[in-house]
Amino acid sequence: MPYRVDLNAIGKEQVSFDFKIDDTFFSALEQAIVKEGDLLAHVEISPNAGNSYQLQVGVEGYVVVPCDRCLEPMSLNVSVRQDVNVETASTDHDASVDAVVAEKDGSLDLAPLIYDFIALAIPIQHMHAEGECDVEMMNKLNSYMVY
Ligand SMILES: [Zn+2]
Repeated sequence: MPYRVDLNAIGKEQVSFDFKIDDTFFSALEQAIVKEGDLLAHVEISPNAGNSYQLQVGVEGYVVVPCDRCLEPMSLNVSVRQDVNVETASTDHDASVDAVVAEKDGSLDLAPLIYDFIALAIPIQHMHAEGECDVEMMNKLNSYMVY
């Protein structure tokens, strides 16, 4: 699993990982609205006291999404930084409400986290610059519109 980290294998030092995010990444996530992109995710993991870890996730690159106006693909730059608390599951400890809980064996799948950050970085409205929309497609769409 390329986007998994084993928290149990991390000692007391801060570690970092780089993940390449491409079309394969998006196609593996069934619910993904984004289907294409090329980004780099940089994840720094700092162990805190007990079973918790502080993750700093940075994602830079671009995604391809359908334009709101003409529905043709357009690329959008993405640049996000987010902090996440992660806790490992253990029986004598209740996880904090805002923490992501890793699996019992200490493994953590970063793919859904990274995807969420990318999805949140996409503006609700996104379209080509004025005049750059696909004219043929716009005409076709207009002809379907009922007033
Ligand atoms: Zn467009």
